[in-house]
Amino acid sequence: MEETRGAAMAYYANMSNKKQKEVVKFFNSIDKNGDGEVSTEEFLGFIRKKGFNTELPQNVFKLLDENNDGTLNFDETVTFFYMITFKKFTFCKGCGIYLSGLHFICVKCHKADKEKTYDLCNSCFRDKNHSHTHTKFLDNDALLRRKGIMGKMFNVVVKVLKVGAALHGLLS
Ligand SMILES: [Zn+2]
Ligand SMILES: [Zn+2]
Repeated sequence: MEETRGAAMAYYANMSNKKQKEVVKFFNSIDKNGDGEVSTEEFLGFIRKKGFNTELPQNVFKLLDENNDGTLNFDETVTFFYMITFKKFTFCKGCGIYLSGLHFICVKCHKADKEKTYDLCNSCFRDKNHSHTHTKFLDNDALLRRKGIMGKMFNVVVKVLKVGAALHGLLS
């Protein structure tokens, strides 16, 4: 969670005042009794209401609670805001740890649905600690770069087709 926490704070620091106020509103909407801390009950109430409980594992509150005091303060809630804004709900299917950095993704599942990927931490992928039937995995960075290359190739093909169509129009 450390890496995500750092990214969330950096993202927050670069937000406009207006956007930062929205994050404060977000915090207040979870902190129902307004005591400046989000309790487990308030947190669970919120994720149930928003339907995140199906995507987040049981231990997410513990992961977010960096100083282990049993509640979420504002900064810890900013991390949660960042997670749900960018749908950073990635947990290892083998061991259940939270994945924020480089890890492996099933190429076939990723192609079928970018929201429902099959993710593995490096150790689980290496030690085959999973029962997934697909075998082709790429790390998230490689997958992203590959998508960029494929997108560029697609644009070139579209351009060629457009030029072809234009020429066809000129000739006929
Ligand atoms: Zn794992
Ligand atoms: Zn798969």
